[in-house]
Amino acid sequence: MLLRADPYTLTLKHRFSLASGSRTTTPCVLLEVNAGGFTGYGEASMPPYLGETQEGAMGFLASVESLLPQDPARLPPEGTEGLKSLLAAIDQSAPAHYAAKAAVDIALHDWLGKALGRPLHRLWGISPDAMPLTSYTIGIGDDDFVSARVKEAEAFRILKVKLGGGNDRNTIDSIRRATGRPLRVDVNQGWHDREEAARMVEWLSGQGVELVEQPFAKERADDTAWLRERSPIPLVADESAVRLPDLERIAGVFDGVNIKLMKCTGLAEARSMIARARSLGLRIMLGCMTETSCGIAAAAQLAPLADWADLDGALLISNDPFEGATVRDGRVTMPEGDGIGVRKKGRE
Ligand code: MG
Repeated sequence: MLLRADPYTLTLKHRFSLASGSRTTTPCVLLEVNAGGFTGYGEASMPPYLGETQEGAMGFLASVESLLPQDPARLPPEGTEGLKSLLAAIDQSAPAHYAAKAAVDIALHDWLGKALGRPLHRLWGISPDAMPLTSYTIGIGDDDFVSARVKEAEAFRILKVKLGGGNDRNTIDSIRRATGRPLRVDVNQGWHDREEAARMVEWLSGQGVELVEQPFAKERADDTAWLRERSPIPLVADESAVRLPDLERIAGVFDGVNIKLMKCTGLAEARSMIARARSLGLRIMLGCMTETSCGIAAAAQLAPLADWADLDGALLISNDPFEGATVRDGRVTMPEGDGIGVRKKGRE
């Protein structure tokens, strides 16, 4: 199997502001696996605050090549279940590198779906008809900036807003001057005072906000559980839950979990996380980083299993090298092609 990795810098359409800072690009590595006349695509998207770099990902991916079977016919004929031991070996070959591992996972799944002639969601018996509405993140700025972003987001029925920057009520007021659409808010660990947080969730629920993501720092499980008892709207873990073993810790602390391929090393683990989260009574959001349509199309394969989708990543960038995952009527459309179903622009 030939593996080809290329660093690629995603250009954001608009400056992206979070409680932790703001930026205009996202480093990424695009991956291809080639074997038996099929090409599988993958990507590692690495927002800087997560600590992975293009250089680190390139080094890891170079080390992975020797773990792949030289003869693609030795890849599992029984479907994606057989990929699990290979992906586990790759995971165990080095700590961290979550996004780079996700790139390998996505590319191998895409390759296998193409080799078997089926879209992944069909292999997994997932109905594309159950696709949940997806939210679209709008940036924060003055009223003119906000109303321009709201207009831009016309195709979306739910908007997502980043809070935790210290000006939260003004931010929501500014959005409410532009639209009455339902909102989801993501605090990105930006709240500090729990009494103030309790007043905020109460106020937000009266402002048409349907959930709050990661209100406190990830270590503050006690404060989060305290807030959850008082919150009229669900609290969803993002930074507090990265991989499968984290789910046990957040059950009873949060109402739901935001599962992202770039955090959890890809589709195989995301599928296990969805099953485990359900058994723990956690609701499920399927989220993303700023990513190309490759990562989004991969996540879309699982999205019908989620309660909430947040798969706007490719729409936030201006240099998407892939096509095949679009948004229609507030929902990501399920790609129809085999594997993850995307095409590289300019290629057959
Ligand atoms: Mg988040």
